[in-house]
Amino acid sequence: MKIGVLALQGAVAEHIRLIEKAGAEGVIVKKKEQLDEVDGMIIPGGESTTIGKLMRRFDFIEALRGFHRQGKPIFGTCAGLIVIAKEIIGEPEAHLGLMDMKVSRNAFGRQRESFETNLAVKGVADDVRAVFIRAPLIDEVGEGVEVLSTYRDQIVAARQGSLLAASFHPELTDDERMHAYFLDMVREAR
Ligand code: GLN
Repeated sequence: MKIGVLALQGAVAEHIRLIEKAGAEGVIVKKKEQLDEVDGMIIPGGESTTIGKLMRRFDFIEALRGFHRQGKPIFGTCAGLIVIAKEIIGEPEAHLGLMDMKVSRNAFGRQRESFETNLAVKGVADDVRAVFIRAPLIDEVGEGVEVLSTYRDQIVAARQGSLLAASFHPELTDDERMHAYFLDMVREAR
């Protein structure tokens, strides 16, 4: 099983490391043609405006929408969560616009720019190690979306069919269980 990590900007190597720790092959994806070689895709954290611009420049928007239409799973972490959302509050346009949720960028405010905590994530574990860095929040989800985790009553992880989203960075820890959960989604989809 091969899992691609979109490598236009952001935390790529860290995802590859945890994909491999969870038991699949990690592929650094820089060209849309590489999407044919992988069974699932991770869109990493970084800066969503920059990632969105580069996705447009390198024709990844339509290519990843096609990837999704084929039923192949996509996991967005932090900026990647913003990239897959249908609506970004305060911004005129979404990027991929796939997952039925409204999200807010940099939602924790200045005092809490970054922090680390343990989270209960449904279907994964009660103590998933999570790093938040200028993290987004999920303000609202549509009917088909299952909330997997909350932090202080706010939604920080969710799933809609073959789409998985997390506000935090699971890849900046040694805890590969979120990646293992995603690998199970990819296995089911195949
Ligand atoms: N604040 C970033 C954004 O809005 C996301 C932060 C991250 O990925 N660590 O794109």
